[in-house]
Formats: sequence, C-alpha cells, structure tokens
Amino acid sequence: MVGDSNGINVDRLPLDYDILDQIDYVYPAGANYFGYLTRGCPNHCAFCAVPILEPEFTITNNIIEQIQAIDAKYGPKQNLLLLDNNILNAPNLSQIVDDLCTAGFAKGAKFVDPGLYSVIMKRYHNGDRGDYLDRKIQRYLQQLKTRIKNEQARCDYIQMLIDGEDATDYAEYMLRTEHALSPIVEKYRSKTPRARYVDFNQGVDGRRINDENMQLLARLAIKPLRIAFDDIAMKDRFCKAVEIAHKHGIKEISNYMLFNFNDKPEDLYERLKTNIELNQRLGIQIFSFPMKYSPITETDRSYVGKHWSVKQLRAISAILQVTKGVVAAGTSFFYKAFGRDLNEFCEILSMPRDYIMFRSYFEENGRTYEWQREYRKLDTQQKEQLLKVVSLPASELRTLNWPNDLRAIIPFYLDKHPTGPLKTASDNQMTLFD
Ligand code: SF4
Repeated sequence: MVGDSNGINVDRLPLDYDILDQIDYVYPAGANYFGYLTRGCPNHCAFCAVPILEPEFTITNNIIEQIQAIDAKYGPKQNLLLLDNNILNAPNLSQIVDDLCTAGFAKGAKFVDPGLYSVIMKRYHNGDRGDYLDRKIQRYLQQLKTRIKNEQARCDYIQMLIDGEDATDYAEYMLRTEHALSPIVEKYRSKTPRARYVDFNQGVDGRRINDENMQLLARLAIKPLRIAFDDIAMKDRFCKAVEIAHKHGIKEISNYMLFNFNDKPEDLYERLKTNIELNQRLGIQIFSFPMKYSPITETDRSYVGKHWSVKQLRAISAILQVTKGVVAAGTSFFYKAFGRDLNEFCEILSMPRDYIMFRSYFEENGRTYEWQREYRKLDTQQKEQLLKVVSLPASELRTLNWPNDLRAIIPFYLDKHPTGPLKTASDNQMTLFD
C-alpha cells in the first residue's frame, strides 16, 4: 500500500513498462523483469533505511502471476531483478525457489527474444495506441533491415517502412501490412538463445548463508550473487559465505561495500583486498561496489565519516570514477588502483586528485615522484594536517596562508591535467593503465 486506503498491495500488481517509453531517459535496466518476493528486513543496521521504510518482514510473492501478466502485455524479458532486502530470511525459501524455476529462471535457463514486432503488433490488435509504441516498433524495424542480405527483399522492406512513415495512422498501417511484413520479420529476427539470469539486486545477508540455502539458490540461474561486506569485523563470516556459495557452484559473486560510516579507510582497503585474495584462492571473480555512506535523514551527500576526510573521500571517488564505480576482480587493476599495501593505499588517498585519475601522465612527467619525495618527508602529524588542508576547495586552498611545513607540497594539489575532465568511460580506463 502506498499511503492510501484502497487496500491494494502494489507489490502484487504488474509493472507498467510503458512509463519507461514515455520519458527521454533510457533506463539502463529497463529490459528486465523487476519484482519483490518479500518486503522488509528483521535486522536493524544503523546505516540502512529499510527498517524505517519497511519495518515488518512480509512475504509478498506472486512472482509467477506477475511475470505472466508482464509477458501477456509487454512481452517476455530476459533477466529478472529481485529487489528483496533479505531474501534469506524467508521461511519458505524452498517454495520461492520453486516458483522462480517455474517462472523460467532455473539454472541453465535460456531466453529467445520474440522481438518487439510481435509484442507491439499484439498490442495494436488489442487496441493499444501511443506514439511511444509507434516509435519503438519503428526503431526495431529499422534495425532489422541490416539483417536482410538479399538486395531486392531489403529494398521492398525499406519501401514498406518509408510508406509507414507517411501514413497518417501508423498503427492502422502496420495492421494493414501485417500479412506482408510479418513473414519477413519472422524470417530475419534473431532466434539465438541467450542465457537468462536472476539477480537478487539488493544483496543477500552473508551471515545467513549456509549449505541449505545455497543449495536452494544454486538451483537458480543466479548471476551474480551479491553479498554485503560492510564491516571488516565480518571478514571471517564473509569469507565463509563466499566459500559456501562457491562450494555449491555459484562462481559469480559481487558485493556492496559500505564505507564512510564507522569504518576507517584501512578497513576498506582490507575488505577490497580480501576479495582479491578470495578470487585468487577460489578461482572466482568477485566484483566490489564500494558505496559511500550518507545519513538517510540528510538530502545532501557531503557527510564525512568520523575516520575519513574530504580529501580521502574525493580520492576514492576519483578511483571509482575511473571504473564507473566497480572494483574489478583483476589483481593487476586492484594493486595499481588502490596500492600494493596499506601504506601505498594511504599514500594514494593523499595524492592530488589529477595524479590519481591520470596516473600514467603524471608518472611519466615525473610530477608524481616529485610529490612522493615531498610527501615522504612529512611525519604522521603533518600528513594528517595535509589531509585537512587539501580537503579545502581549490579556490580556498589557493588563497590560504599555507603552513610553513606544507609549503613545498601544497602546490602539487593545484596541478591539473591539460585535457581537463574526463569525458568517457574508455578515456577513464586509458588514463589509469596506459
Ligand atoms: S541486513 Fe541489509 S536490508 Fe537489513 S537492515 Fe541491514 S543493511 Fe538493511
């Protein structure tokens, strides 16, 4: 229920995918099924909004009916994103897994896309109309023409599309020409089976992972299994959870990693490194998603945890910007991005931002080494003082009366890479590793 009194449980309603076609923004995950099987969480982690928003743990599962309703109206989707907060708390996990298998997401499940043409034609037949439907089917048909290799057939097909563009009522035109277009689309559309995946997108509670529930989840086409690793004190439990999942054949694992809460920067390094070591030991690939804590009561996200400084948070953000927020499983990436040991990690966090993002450029022109020489002359107290000073915005830093013992190092923080801000993810990748 959403604050009204009509007694409707919104979790049991099918989704309205048309909303996604009526906005300019392309929602990256829009081609998936979404659903909840449960709401709430029995835990009360101090950093989490779930105990406030969904204070009671309840089962809402009607996933089979929801998927059938989506299929009937919008056509089937390849993957399933489940947004449960703590699925392992469900007492009927076995039934839930059975339902997900029935819904088409058993391990090894494959998906053959029926194509947008048949889905939208069905909607035209049902009387659905909308510019967004017309635009969608037009885009689909335009893309399909590249698959028609026979020149005459392609010319005839393109002529039909051009005639459609001139039609005053596009949907009616499509219904009229269906007998001619439909066999062509059917012949040339892709029928390649693709693997299907189910993703418990909010992660599962590592503390609850055991042989029994991993045996159940391993029956699903689960990818990835997300396990939270929010506290270094959970290291042993987390490693055990990964080992159990691995033992049951779940090899693609990722995790959310909260930082800037009660943790220290060195805890984050230790947690990231734990994943790298697990990858090496078990031959798996754990991807980490560090997530910066901000209090749920505040709308601006400038909160700085008691063991962090603005400079260190900016440094983590600079590293993650290079990788679009993901810490990949590769060892070489990890050690280059975060440092080979804790000392190097702390040094990277203190490094000028552009030196972090354009690593090769500033190493090649020698500035990184000049900065390191100055940095390594500082004692612990001076390093802490440096972090405070360089946490200031550049405009303030420029005009500040610099402390005498930091005079030699502060100018490095005003250095900028000549090309300015990074534009694309591939530019980003290049700068760190080239
Ligand atoms: S276990 Fe997860 S969902 Fe539950 S309160 Fe903690 S962080 Fe929130």
